[in-house]
Amino acid sequence: MRLFCSFFLFIAPLAAESADWIWTGRYVVTMDAQRRVIENGALAIRGERILAAGPKSEIERRYQAHHRLDRPDAILAPGLIDTHTHAAMSLLRGIADDLRLQEWLERYIFPAEARNVTPEFVRWGTRLGCLEMLLSGTTTYTDMYYFEDVVAEATKEAGMRGVLGETIIGFPSPDSKTPNIALEFTGRFLSRFHDDPLIVPAVAPHAIYTNSDETLQACRALANRHGAPLIIHLSETKQENDECMTKRHVTPTQALDTLGIFNGRTVAAHAVWVDEADLAILKSRGVGIAHCPSSNMKLASGIAPVTRMLALNLAVGLGPDGPAGSNNDFNMFEEMDLAAKLQKVTTGDPRNLPAQAAFEMSTIRGARALGMEKEIGSLEAGKRADLISIRLDRPNAVPLYNVYSQLVYALKGSDVEDVMVNGKLLVKDSQPLTLNAAQIEAKAREYRDQVRQSLTRN
Ligand SMILES: [Zn+2]
Repeated sequence: MRLFCSFFLFIAPLAAESADWIWTGRYVVTMDAQRRVIENGALAIRGERILAAGPKSEIERRYQAHHRLDRPDAILAPGLIDTHTHAAMSLLRGIADDLRLQEWLERYIFPAEARNVTPEFVRWGTRLGCLEMLLSGTTTYTDMYYFEDVVAEATKEAGMRGVLGETIIGFPSPDSKTPNIALEFTGRFLSRFHDDPLIVPAVAPHAIYTNSDETLQACRALANRHGAPLIIHLSETKQENDECMTKRHVTPTQALDTLGIFNGRTVAAHAVWVDEADLAILKSRGVGIAHCPSSNMKLASGIAPVTRMLALNLAVGLGPDGPAGSNNDFNMFEEMDLAAKLQKVTTGDPRNLPAQAAFEMSTIRGARALGMEKEIGSLEAGKRADLISIRLDRPNAVPLYNVYSQLVYALKGSDVEDVMVNGKLLVKDSQPLTLNAAQIEAKAREYRDQVRQSLTRN
């Protein structure tokens, strides 16, 4: 017996290394530096991180796992990264559509928010948003709304990753009477979620036209003190640019640069009305861009020069923006598809924004836009275990000649089958494991009735 034990100990180091999970799939789309697509591939995962990505035979030889997920007819890919949204607005989905921005805001959104947005509203709205995002393959999202501490709690409860910032705006909001109160709130928020494994707390001034220069500079200083990103809307509409030109004689990008707002990690949403000088500034400051094609089309905001941004190698990610009229959902598969097609139709050249580039925007380039490319955005050793499987056994998935073409132009969010974030399985067989879908949907319908009634009051 003693002899047997020592023999066993002797061979143990040569045996397979232990892992928590092995996932296998028909294709592993790594999005690593070589853009390896591994046919009959696999991933080994331990704790919160990926141990290795490689051919199935090799991973199975090297690792022994406690749990397995075998998807012989699926793509395994990095979880999708949403670089701009307002999750809790899911409860206002479709409240009013097909209107001019001003009418939409003043007649519907502002009154509905003033009368309904409470911590509980935000909690249920965020749960609904996270549920929809997870089921369609988003593992990280970027958010700007009110009661952002509640957004963070609901996001952690779902197990999702979030870059989250309390909206700082120059008029009374549902939770702050003044921008200074929102700034103080943000200071506490940054401390509370410092070093959280899932939440990256951010500073989120709404835009240049809704904040004073002093508030914008205080936001930058606060972000830099905490090493946090600053997220802001930038040049979304022509009106924003025209007003800035009248008032300051420069574009919003130039004005923000002069104020020092880009001196630190920044994610700017939209960047529709940017010229060549603006792009040079955004590049030199390393500003991440959140391109929101659905929103820009639906609100007739314009078309961001994404082809040019990519030629300059800017860090451009994708975002669905808000679900309450500017989109109205959180589906990153739609954003990839629309981003690619919008560049083709506006430049008159179908070679622009090819499928692989669109998939990069929702994975590794989106990670770069958030300044998180060392942690997420690709499937490789050492990165966080944020990954999804997408089934290939439906009519829209066959035959398959090119994985990127399939991912961007043929597959849908509803084809996502499994989702893992930070090493934890959150969706299996298209069913959520951390969120109660029936309860969340029932609550959303209750809120619909409440919001509707609140708008009939004067
Ligand atoms: Zn937005």
